Amino acid sequence: MRRLGIDIGGTKTLCVVIDDSIAGGRVVDERKVPTDPRGDAEAVVVDLARSFGEIDSVGIGIAGLVSHNGDVVVTTHLPGVRELPLRDAVASRLGLPVAVDNDATCATVAEWRLGAARGSNNALMVTLGTGIGGGAVIDGRVVRGHNGFAGEFGHMVVARGGESCPCGRRGCWEAYASGGGLARLADGVASEAVVHDFLQGDAWAVEVVMEFVDWVVLGLHNLVNLYDPECVVLGGGLGSLPAIVEVVSARFVAGEGGHVGRALPRLVAAELREHAGAIGAAFIGAGD
Ligand SMILES: [Zn+2]
Repeated sequence: MRRLGIDIGGTKTLCVVIDDSIAGGRVVDERKVPTDPRGDAEAVVVDLARSFGEIDSVGIGIAGLVSHNGDVVVTTHLPGVRELPLRDAVASRLGLPVAVDNDATCATVAEWRLGAARGSNNALMVTLGTGIGGGAVIDGRVVRGHNGFAGEFGHMVVARGGESCPCGRRGCWEAYASGGGLARLADGVASEAVVHDFLQGDAWAVEVVMEFVDWVVLGLHNLVNLYDPECVVLGGGLGSLPAIVEVVSARFVAGEGGHVGRALPRLVAAELREHAGAIGAAFIGAGD
């Protein structure tokens, strides 16, 4: 079967076709087009799908809140979109099975099926970028929750009354352990600049990054207690930097102590990078 996955990003929309009859799934076609934030998402998806010829299903990933029935409730990438019934609209025009999900959930599925977590039935993905995204596959099933919003790990409070967060709460993990959090710990210096200086061995940058890493590790240990994963995949702009993965791994193991009776999960870097959203979307369209 040829499964089309479409990842609608902030600046580009990436499409892949997965042939899932080949060794668990293989990318057999791909294409990238610019995202028009004011464009008609339904028409764009339908045109893209038709351009790939014969396909058997369509999966769509997008940042934001996506409900169980494939409605895009709100997305930062398409500012005009509210409560858009994208799944039903595209399905009725194409006459194909269509699924829509959050891009972080899609990335999690991709790493589970074809990437760093393949072979594991209990895996989490945590993306450390501008914010924190995430997703969970537990007992071989994608965790979505009652509304479809599960896996918002970034809004787990780690400091009562702490830094304010755009979600309306205070002390969210994302306010400390994301790119934005790193910049705040660095008194407003951009996270890219701090990481650059850290890689050069600058003492101040090393101190700031280590504090950042301790916040990352605190949240990871909370997630281990919640989900009992076998494998945790780190991704996102910051989470996929080898030097960051290395120090997070070292502190993650050193900070162990509250997990009596079990081995810590494997902490691994994401493998599929910018393709993860589209690959995961293809698998979600196929029923994951
Ligand atoms: Zn929050």
